[in-house]
Amino acid sequence: MNSEAGRVLELREASDLALVNDIARIALRYMELRPMLQGIVQALKRHLRCDFVDCATLDMHTRMFVCEALACDLPSAIDVGYSCQIGTGVVGEVAATGHPLLIADTRKHSNYVEILAGTRSELCVPVKYDGEVVAIINAESLRLDAFRERLLLLETVAEQVAGAIAAARLNQQLRRRVDLLSMMSNLLRAAIEAGNLGDALERILVFVRKRFHLELCSVLLADETRPVLLLKAEAGHSTLNGVAMPEWPVHLGIIGRAFRTGVAQFVPDVRADPDYAMGNPAVRCEYVVPIRFHDRLVGLIDMESTSVESFTEENRAMLAVLAAQVAGAIHLVSTNQRLSDIVREVAEKSAALEHANAQLREANATLQRLSNSDGLTGVANRRRFDRGLRSEWRRAYREHADLSLLLIDIDDFKAYNDGYGHLAGDDCLKRIAGAWNRATSRPGDLFARYGGEEFAVLLPRTDAARALRCAEQLQDALAALALPHRFARASELITASMGVATLTPDVRIRPSDFIRRADRALYVAKAEGRNRVVLAADSP
Ligand code: GH3
Ligand code: MG
Ligand code: MG
Repeated sequence: MNSEAGRVLELREASDLALVNDIARIALRYMELRPMLQGIVQALKRHLRCDFVDCATLDMHTRMFVCEALACDLPSAIDVGYSCQIGTGVVGEVAATGHPLLIADTRKHSNYVEILAGTRSELCVPVKYDGEVVAIINAESLRLDAFRERLLLLETVAEQVAGAIAAARLNQQLRRRVDLLSMMSNLLRAAIEAGNLGDALERILVFVRKRFHLELCSVLLADETRPVLLLKAEAGHSTLNGVAMPEWPVHLGIIGRAFRTGVAQFVPDVRADPDYAMGNPAVRCEYVVPIRFHDRLVGLIDMESTSVESFTEENRAMLAVLAAQVAGAIHLVSTNQRLSDIVREVAEKSAALEHANAQLREANATLQRLSNSDGLTGVANRRRFDRGLRSEWRRAYREHADLSLLLIDIDDFKAYNDGYGHLAGDDCLKRIAGAWNRATSRPGDLFARYGGEEFAVLLPRTDAARALRCAEQLQDALAALALPHRFARASELITASMGVATLTPDVRIRPSDFIRRADRALYVAKAEGRNRVVLAADSP
């Protein structure tokens, strides 16, 4: 009977087929390794009617095994998660030889180590993937020879478990990759937002160095004009024979080769590579990945490690994806940089413009003030008065409102100048103007120097009675100043004469008539002896 025929014979029992079917279902149901193996060992224990079934994964590099699942109703020496060096024992023997062991009587097997007290028989099979032992399934019974003719069944199950372990590992690997890449993309986003290319790259490199246990991780970018690569950022220290290298010539080392060929360079043992330029003596392997942007080689990521474990195939695949992302980040950050440079320049220029405008506005305001005010006294000048008169005239005309005007002339001022001097005369005019300006501070009233020692007050919406009161207030204010005038005809102090005119503008009268009326009243005040107020005869 050949072995295929034997297998058919041994599996022909319907219950065996049901078990194989059950295990396939369990393997499909679970994505995670441990719950899946737990389901399998329980199904096995039930089917084999034994006392103990466990499944341990093992790593032949480190020679460690880990108990992933266990079905046992009695106290045993191990538990799920238990891990130890593969020793001699039956499991150790199967792991080492890759052959299954069917032990009918454990007392007769020299390599037997007791895990479950009182075990009499044991069946232990390797789980192989790609010819390598990746796990062991071990069943034990308190009965003698409990596993007779069960070897092929368990081997069939082991084949199923091998596929399931591979799938679960692949799944785990994929999840790890997705986690790492999403972490990377978060990091990149944060880095890009930082806006500064050097800082952005450094953050990424620090992360990569830690995550892949690297000695050194650096980004070098091609210079636009010279055959050198510029060190843009690094985590760890890049040196050549102990000297820092801010620039790396493109003809030198594995880095140079990667740049010249544009192909990623993975060197598991740098000492065996003739191009290797010695940097950190602890480094054993190097991986250099080109950074491209739109098919243009813009630079490289250089990664160096003391252990080849940093650059497993899986890690290299992830690092290549990373390089592509870094290329994008470099492009984005430099575009951002250019944009913010432009924004800053525009902002600076508009600030300068705004400043110039403000100065211009200020100068205009000063000019306006100067052109509207009298140089000696600082009060409104004749120009301002004429404008005020025109606009108030129009307004009073529209509103049929009273408009009043005071024309004031200082008495005997020629004598003052002659007596005290022209400078004293100026000073006297300033003080009088100041006092009168303050006394006519009602909004809308306009006090102005009309010319020489003459002043005028324009009083909108003011009837004759109120205009006379205002004139009296000015007389009082002048009296309060009590400016001595020894040379005056009628008084010892400075006095003034005032002519008051009030009217409601209409088509028959012009502003010049209005002034003439006030002037006539002023003339009367002078003629009647000065230092008085006279209301124009034709005022209402
Ligand atoms: P009356 O009482 O008739 O007004 O006599 P008055 O001397 O004031 O009249 P008059 O018009 O003869 O003289 C006005 C004087 O005012 C003449 C001029 O020297 C003086 N005056 C005009 N403007 C200024 C000025 O800006 N500063 C000085 N110090 N004197 C001025
Ligand atoms: Mg005068
Ligand atoms: Mg005068």
